[in-house]
Parts: sequence; structure tokens; C-alpha cells
Amino acid sequence: MPLIPVLCPYCGAGCRLGLRVEDGQAVGVEYLTDHPVAQGALCPKGNVAPEIIHHPDRLHRPLVRENGRFREADWDEALDRVARALSRVRQEHGPNALGFLASAKATNEENYLFQKMARLLGTNNVDHCARLCHAPSVVGLSRALGSGAMTNPIPDLAESRCILIVGSNFAENHPVVSRWVWEAKDRGAFVVVADPRYTPTAHMADLYLPLRSGTDVALLNGMAAAVLREGLADYAFIAARTEGLDELRAVLEEYSLERTAAITGLPPGDILRAARAYARSPASAIVYCMGVTQHTVGTDNVLACANLALLCGQVGRPGAGIFPLRGQNNVQGASDMGALAELLPGYVPVASEEGRRLLARLWGREDLPDAPGLSVVELMEAALEGRVRAMVVMGENPVVSDPATGDTVRALEGLEFLVVQDLFLTETARLAHVVLPAACWAEKAGSYTNTERRVQWSPKALEPPGEARPDLDIIGELGRRLGLWERAPGPEEVLTEINRAVPAYGGITPRRLIGASEGIFWPCPDLAHPGTPILHRERFNTPSGRGRFFPVAHRPPPEAPDARFPLWMTTGRVVVHYNSGSLSRRLPELAAYAPGVWVAVHPQDAERLGIRDGETVRVRSLRGEVEARVQVSEQVRPGLVFLPFHFPGVNALTLKELDRDARIPSYKVAACTLERVAAPAGEG
Ligand code: SF4
Repeated sequence: MPLIPVLCPYCGAGCRLGLRVEDGQAVGVEYLTDHPVAQGALCPKGNVAPEIIHHPDRLHRPLVRENGRFREADWDEALDRVARALSRVRQEHGPNALGFLASAKATNEENYLFQKMARLLGTNNVDHCARLCHAPSVVGLSRALGSGAMTNPIPDLAESRCILIVGSNFAENHPVVSRWVWEAKDRGAFVVVADPRYTPTAHMADLYLPLRSGTDVALLNGMAAAVLREGLADYAFIAARTEGLDELRAVLEEYSLERTAAITGLPPGDILRAARAYARSPASAIVYCMGVTQHTVGTDNVLACANLALLCGQVGRPGAGIFPLRGQNNVQGASDMGALAELLPGYVPVASEEGRRLLARLWGREDLPDAPGLSVVELMEAALEGRVRAMVVMGENPVVSDPATGDTVRALEGLEFLVVQDLFLTETARLAHVVLPAACWAEKAGSYTNTERRVQWSPKALEPPGEARPDLDIIGELGRRLGLWERAPGPEEVLTEINRAVPAYGGITPRRLIGASEGIFWPCPDLAHPGTPILHRERFNTPSGRGRFFPVAHRPPPEAPDARFPLWMTTGRVVVHYNSGSLSRRLPELAAYAPGVWVAVHPQDAERLGIRDGETVRVRSLRGEVEARVQVSEQVRPGLVFLPFHFPGVNALTLKELDRDARIPSYKVAACTLERVAAPAGEG
């Protein structure tokens, strides 16, 4: 019975699993102990990933909408409809009336070809969900360090002697990361967790900092100021490898322990203890996730992390680095491939003439658009206003995952044309005019780049169901019908083009990658290069080669509790679900643990509001409402409630105010109120 080593379709940890295939059916999973990150471990999602493959809800044939209802169609009819609709809208309203949502679940080759299609049609309106999770990492870390990516491999955490975890619940969201942090703890590492919620990750902490939501800049600045006051900064590193300390020092003067404590709600002694532990350890890591990035100050939060790391010389060595944990299995790769509205493949700004010239030569076209396109949230705004009239959505589910989803639904319903390619008839696909059935990860070959920058090839293990096709074939066929290229290319052919379009992938050729069981870390500029597990060892990738301090000041969130909406609200993930839940909510093994929306409420708030564990409440914000089962829990601070965002309706509550630099919405902070709906069965 063949054992095919495919990649897990869920998170950015990028675990590989052995798929047992018999008579064209996936019959089980085996653990691959030689995988460098997973070492044979898989989390609950990875364990049941094969259940998706033969799920009865999979789409088998294209669907076209007629008289308000879907009917099955053949591929020629469906693709012709799509090509005709996109051509008509482009001709009547111009290329910027088109919008494209790429996919962090699709391969590098699929995302590359997808953004190429958008740009050859004349628009940079191509974006994807990296905008909703780690766009501030791309912007902030690029500015400070010259590369917007994680600096060290995950197993390198075992070398750290202090790990500062800010706004990340990796114990649930990237579970295999935990094993490396536990290993560091076994070797004596001191773990600090800053999070408004006492999560399973906080359970690992030697020092837990329950800071107020939206006060990360104040905490990180307060720690940096304490480092300076205590003489713990690494002045040799600062002199040799950084610039801009004087500007930072001026801003940090405002962050006494007392002021930091007043903003964050933390004891001054704990802030000082965290600062000392981070600065004094021989190798310290900062691990962060969406608790840091999903704010209107997301970029400032990332810059504050970089400032602290540079100040203490804690970057560019084993165990010393910055670890932004990317969400989906290929969100790093989709960003590398240029599926972002302002960036071409390889993070070249669309305004760069030189960058456009390189692609123009490769693509045989001179007139590539030079103005930044619309980001995810802006695309929906433009659709609401009639500026965007047709949209192509590859494997994303914005009806569940966008902020203020009431507006998203209205935007998509108002489009002249919407095509969705996906595995299932998702909440977004239900609004489409044409739905194209896509192959899942195990039914196609291609490369993925995990959160570490590790590029890995995943082979095709079995055939897709019915007439479903890989996204690469769908884009290839659509592009051919639109006159963009002569034939649909295969994955190896596209990766060969990526080798020329993205310098950091120059040496990651199909031949080399397919045989590399541990993958290859970018940057890997040529065939002789071994890849780069640790960034910034000798120089930063900035124009001067130095790391740059960017002073940032605390700014309060755009919305705060008031008399009408008296509670802070935040959202996040749980171990058994993934993002919009389009995969995980369909699997009974996972859904059984978390079948619907709940809201975690502190016992003091529950008592004050007269609500009990298990009863149903209506959670309302200025933008919408959702019903949720109450979970009375001391995991949240008094005055704060938490909801998992995997379920339809939760994001109806969230804010779409954007970070001005990275254009990520402020998911993590909103004001809300709870209203009783019904008591649990058997109670009054
Ligand atoms: Fe899959 Fe992530 Fe779980 Fe690994 S940790 S098995 S990549 S979901």
C-alpha cells in the first residue's frame, strides 16, 4: 500500500504526514518521524486531514447559476461563462473593476499564476488573507530588518533561553510549535507570555502578563525603556549593526514602569522582570501572532518587537530571533508569490519600474499596472460602491472571515459577476454565479512555503473526485480563454518561471525541491546555495545593511467600551478548527469538540449581568450580532469577552478600521454587549 508524504493542509507549521492510499482511496495517516518540524507529531487537525478528501460534500462538477438556482455544467460552459463575464466587465468598466482573491491554502505555483492573470488583465487588485493576518509583519519587519519573514526555524526555539510570547496561542493554533518550547523549558528557558487571555499557551509561562487588549506597544516600549535604564542593552551589537537608536531613546523616555503599568494594567515589577529576562538571556526569541498584528496599530506592534530585539542584540543567532507564526499552510508562499495588492513576486513594490521591467520580459508584456491595487477589505468597500464589479475568489471564504461581514455579504451580492473555486459550497460560493470544483491538496502536486520560509514539495497522492481540477489547471484554462497565454502550464513549469521571477527562490528548482525531504529555506538564490535557515547573521537586508530602530508610541484602539457596549471583545482560534472552518467544521471528529459559537465571560461579569454557564446570549456590537453559548471562564480578564472566529456571524461584530500601513483590519478589539436569549434546558 503506497505511503505518500504529503503536507498538512492546515497551519503554517508545515508538517508532513504519510498518506496511506489503497485503490485510489486515502485510508489512513502515518507519522513521519524524520520531518524536521513535526518529528512524527500531528495535532488533531493533521490527524484527521484525510477525512476531507472523500467527504460527501465535495464538489464534483462545475455549477452555474440560472434563474437564482445552481445547475451542473461542463467545464467548457463554466469557463466560457467566466471568461466572457470578466472580459465584458473589463471592457465596459476598465481593469480595476475586477478583483481577485488568491489563496493561502493553494500552492506557490497556483498563487503565482493567479496574480499573473490579474496583472496581465491590467489590475493590481489581487490580494489574499495574509492581509488579514500578517501584513504588518511584512511591512514592519521589512522596514526594520529588511525581510518581512520569520528569522529562524521553529526547532531553533529549543536553543532559546528566554522566549517572549506576545499575542500567540500556538498551543492551539500551531500545536507542534509547543514541543519546541517545552524542549527549551526542559533545557532551562524562561518563558514569558503576554496575552489578555489565559490560554493553553499561557499555561506554559514562567511569567504570565495579562495585559489589557490593544496595549502591546506600551508593554514592549516599557520593556525596552527598562532595558536602557538598567544598562542591559547590547551596545556592541547596536554600534556594529543598527541605526536610529537616538530617535528610539527619545520616545522610550515616556515609558516609565509606572506609565507602562497604568496603560497595560500590569504590575510594574512584572514588566521589569520580563525585560531583564529577555535582555540577559544568551539567546532570546520573540514569538508573536495575530494578537499583535490584527490591530490598527499592527505595524507599530511589530516594529516595537523589532526595536526590543535589536536593542538587546537578540537576532541573527541560533535561538535568537523573531518568530511571527503565519496562519495557513501557504500564507508565506502566497505572499512571496506577489498575491498582494502593492507587491509583485518577491516583495517588489508595484511602483518599481525595474521590477515591472523584469516581469514584463518574463511575461512578454510591457504595460503592467504600476498603481497599488485594493486590499481585501478595500475590495469589498469598492464592490459596495460599484467600483469593483466582478470578482474571482480562489479558496477563500470572506463571508465568514472578513471583518464586519454584513457589509461583505452585501458587497458580494451586489457584484455583476462572482466566480468561486473551492472544494465545498462554502458560504461565499453560495453567492457565486459560477462555482468551479477544485482538487484538494492531496490531489495535486506543488510547492508550499511554511512559516519558517521552508519551501516543501507536496506530491500528488490520488485523483480528485468527479471532474474537480487543481486550481492551477483552472487558472491555466481560464487564462488561455482570456488570451493571456497559449496553454495551461504544469506545476514544475510554473516553479521554473518562479525561479526567474523571485530571486530568493532562484535555486529552488523543481528537480532540487522534489528530492529535498526537509525542504529548502529561502533565500536560496542559486543552485549551489544551501538555503538560509537563519536570517540576518552578518548583515540585515536593508539598504545600509543595518537594522533600523523605528520609534512607535502607544495609540488606543479605534473603539472602546461605552454605556451601550460596555465590554471589550476579542476573537481567536481553537485547536479543533481552522480559519473560516470551511474544512474543519465539516469533520465530525473535530466539530464534536466545538460545534458552535460560544462566548467566554469572566465570572464577575457573568454575575453582574445575571447570566449563567451554558445559556444562550446575543452578543451585539455596533456592526452586527451573533448568538452564542456562554462559557463562564477565568481565562478572560474581567470586562473582556472572547469568541472563536471560525463560525459564521462572529465577524459580523468585528471592526474594519485599517492599520494605515499594512491595511489589516482591527479584528482583535471591539466593544460589545451581551443580552440574555434563553437559559439552558431544565433551568429557569
Ligand atoms: Fe497540520 Fe499545523 Fe497541526 Fe502540523 S501543527 S498537523 S501543520 S495543523
